[in-house]
Amino acid sequence: YRAKRTGGGYAVFNAQLDDLPVQDVELLAALHHAIPRGELELHFQPVVDAGTTSVVGHEALLRWRRPSGLVPPTDFIALAETAGLIVPIGRWVLGKAADAVRRGVLKRVSINVSGLELQQPDYVPALARVLADTGIHPHSLVLELTESTLLDPHRLTTVLEDIAQLGVAVALDDFGTGYSSLTALASLPIQLLKIDRSFIAPLEARGPAGARAFKALRGMVMVADAYGLPTVAEGVETSVQAELLREVGCTYLQGYLFGRPAPLEWPGSGDDREIGRPQSGPVAAVACT
Ligand code: C2E
Ligand code: MG
Ligand code: MG
Ligand code: MG
Repeated sequence: YRAKRTGGGYAVFNAQLDDLPVQDVELLAALHHAIPRGELELHFQPVVDAGTTSVVGHEALLRWRRPSGLVPPTDFIALAETAGLIVPIGRWVLGKAADAVRRGVLKRVSINVSGLELQQPDYVPALARVLADTGIHPHSLVLELTESTLLDPHRLTTVLEDIAQLGVAVALDDFGTGYSSLTALASLPIQLLKIDRSFIAPLEARGPAGARAFKALRGMVMVADAYGLPTVAEGVETSVQAELLREVGCTYLQGYLFGRPAPLEWPGSGDDREIGRPQSGPVAAVACT
């Protein structure tokens, strides 16, 4: 990596940046201005208790408001990582999410954090500062660790231990895919496991495929249980899926069945410009119990 200072901003440029297609270079240039221009927004999706279906928290999901429409994170996070832009973006997400808790709008919030962010030597101090500045309880924050091929496992373990020391929980996101492997589960200090949507979707398949998916899921929950970890199932869309997930003992459920990601709306939220219509109505203030 080559570190560069750009104006007042901060960026780490990968040497590969020179080889990016022109559309990506343009997208990156626009993304660079997204924070100062107020184009980033967080949508929140409820996470419910599998047994009672009461809301236990929300996951913050990033969106980029462009003239062409709302850009999903899948279209720009990887690029932001390549350019190191994920670091200032991640800080913005952390600040916004913590602020929603401070205002009493959310009780518990999960944010997605990329390995590159955790690799920053000042990540943990910055996290500690946000907790101190907002005065929020560390338990009201969860960090979801997403794909992080860049990270050296030894360094990752140290950072996760420091985060645990602060009292902030870490969830392993997209478990069962890519980097989120059994090895990670056995070696990393984490407190929660999020089972990837790709294991939930085939549950209702007919014949052997459905039965296989059910057994695989049951196995994953048993493994999590062996490590003393509660589980969250991602992408729960039907009541049949929810029932099967209860049957295997999954702890929490998340998905369109319980609520789509939507912007927050509460009295005095005017500084967060409310643009367009949320897919399923705004997330009610203090929706958690
Ligand atoms: P993720 O953390 O695994 O988030 C779950 C994704 O599944 C979200 O997509 C969510 O909108 C979608 N989803 C939730 N319920 C359902 C469902 O029932 N059915 C279907 N089909 N999809 C569902 P989204 O918002 O597009 O985010 C995609 C990924 O982008 C996230 O996956 C996460 O890895 C990443 N991401 C989102 N926000 C951030 C962020 O602030 N920072 C970082 N580093 N990554 C982020
Ligand atoms: Mg996530
Ligand atoms: Mg996930
Ligand atoms: Mg996923």
